[in-house]
Amino acid sequence: MSETLNADPAELAKFSDLAHRWWDPESEFRPLHQINPLRLDWIDTLAPLKGRRVVDVGCGGGILADAMARKGADVLGIDLAAKPLKIAQLHALEAGTAGVSYREISAEALAAEQPASFDTVTCMEMLEHVPDPASIVRACASLVKPGGWVFFSTINRSAKSFAFAIVGAEYLLKLLPRGTHEYAKMIRPSELAAHCRAAGLELTESRGLQYNPLTRRYWMDGDTSVNYLFATRKPGT
Ligand code: SAH
Repeated sequence: MSETLNADPAELAKFSDLAHRWWDPESEFRPLHQINPLRLDWIDTLAPLKGRRVVDVGCGGGILADAMARKGADVLGIDLAAKPLKIAQLHALEAGTAGVSYREISAEALAAEQPASFDTVTCMEMLEHVPDPASIVRACASLVKPGGWVFFSTINRSAKSFAFAIVGAEYLLKLLPRGTHEYAKMIRPSELAAHCRAAGLELTESRGLQYNPLTRRYWMDGDTSVNYLFATRKPGT
């Protein structure tokens, strides 16, 4: 692997070690299973998935990639952790999902290989695990066709997100393994917006994800103080 690869081997190992439990809805990946219908509907409303060519960057075990393919998109899932990709492939086979494939390649390398080739790019819960998130944002911007959509989600860096996403989710409620998220790597909405602008993407909409530990339910609203999503577009037709 090249020395300049924008990836943290410890992060990739963390996801590989847990990969066999990716499709267990009661595992460490329960939060991803629970938020999936919310983010899927939001994407499908803004940029209808049927018939679109989509790349899911940092797809992991394929929870979102598989669901987008089931909505009729032609989906390529990419990641740099080998085990989650194998699990994703196996799941597609077992579930009989058509229109999804997976590849171990970086966003930057795929962008060099297939620029302006995708109608929609998704990059969810991934930017907070990479050394240089701005480089991933630039790669996503070059992967998408003019007029296409790029969706991001990540975790804010604030006192509230430290309390909720680290102390609450990892230590008190134990929704996620300790060490899943590192405070310093979390990204403020203003910082992600600046990365998007610098990459030539226009911010169309931002949403927040909230969680009620008593009902164990998630919902989306306009509060981006902890977990949030951006819908952006590349200008052009
Ligand atoms: N996007 C998926 C999975 C999120 S978990 C979802 O929301 O359901 C974070 C994923 O990012 C893991 O699969 C991890 O292997 C991947 N990842 C971390 N660093 C990466 C990098 N530099 N390039 C590609 N994928 C990366």
